[in-house]
Amino acid sequence: MPDLLQIGNITERMQSRLSPAFNIHQLDQYEAAVITHVITNGHAGIPTDLMTSLPNLKAISVYGVGYDAVDAKAAAQLGIVVTHTPNVLNDEVATTAVLLMLSCYRELVRDDAYVRSGRWEAEGNAPLTRSADRQKIGILGLGRIGQAIADKLAPWSPEISYHSRSQKDVPYQYFGSLVDMAAHVDVLICITPGGPATNKLVNAEVLKALGPAGTLINVSRGSVVDETALIEALQQGDLGWAGLDVFEKEPHVPQALRDLPNVVLLPHAGSATVETRAAMGDLTVDNLLQHLQDGSVLTPVPECKDL
Ligand code: NDP
Repeated sequence: MPDLLQIGNITERMQSRLSPAFNIHQLDQYEAAVITHVITNGHAGIPTDLMTSLPNLKAISVYGVGYDAVDAKAAAQLGIVVTHTPNVLNDEVATTAVLLMLSCYRELVRDDAYVRSGRWEAEGNAPLTRSADRQKIGILGLGRIGQAIADKLAPWSPEISYHSRSQKDVPYQYFGSLVDMAAHVDVLICITPGGPATNKLVNAEVLKALGPAGTLINVSRGSVVDETALIEALQQGDLGWAGLDVFEKEPHVPQALRDLPNVVLLPHAGSATVETRAAMGDLTVDNLLQHLQDGSVLTPVPECKDL
């Protein structure tokens, strides 16, 4: 049987489908020369020195769509195919983005605390919130998930615009400049990949342009937003609200962010439902089993499409 190196946790269902096909090795006990396949997740990825230390490695299957923790270019050069799980999580991550936006607008967390603490009974009605209808919403990264977010927002009758490196064939206003889009919109939703190309794309200037009445939603990667600038903007009232699923050094979340009343925080739960994780797990395993069968894979990352 071929030998698979497991990085990070996998579900029982993944384990039970992989066990008949592979000898599964853990990171604390494996022999480099025998490993032909790796399974990992989007957060752990694989360190490049570990990847290059496996002389017979042929395929890396990532349990997630974001693969910024894998050097896919280096893998392709070595003839190693990297796969990920596009599309099967689009709707779930879009739901998470909408959930965060609505929670900011309608102060879900504040009002939940208001009821639980007994303040409603003691002090009367909670302060009014803001309507999420008919807002100007800018999507940073209009790809598979970005489009699903735009679709899912339709019942709130938004005016949608977007920024990405290239203009798409869509009925939304395109902004070549992120700062210009941030100045135009009420809500900025980040859903680009992580990695060096998008590092701190949302900086102090962008946050300032979004402004005191603005809401930032980040469901992409923590690295996409300058977290220090974000905390400062929220503390000083230069930015109104933030709904965050991802953080620079997760699972560590700065105390300053946790102390702010105008943020809603999630533990990187964008795709974390039973149904969607099952679909992602199935595709992660299907890629490995397909590769065993005939050397092809179902969903290679773009860098590995020609292998
Ligand atoms: P896609 O590749 O389909 O879309 C990415 C979009 O980002 C494209 O429209 C691309 O357009 C744009 N983009 C890429 N680089 C830049 C850049 N430097 N500046 C501006 N725009 C850029 O990916 P998905 O929609 O499938 O996934 C997006 C990301 O979402 C994942 O990579 C992952 O990081 C994150 N994610 C987070 C989850 C969570 O749990 N919070 C779950 C799943 C995904 P163009 O090439 O024209 O610039």
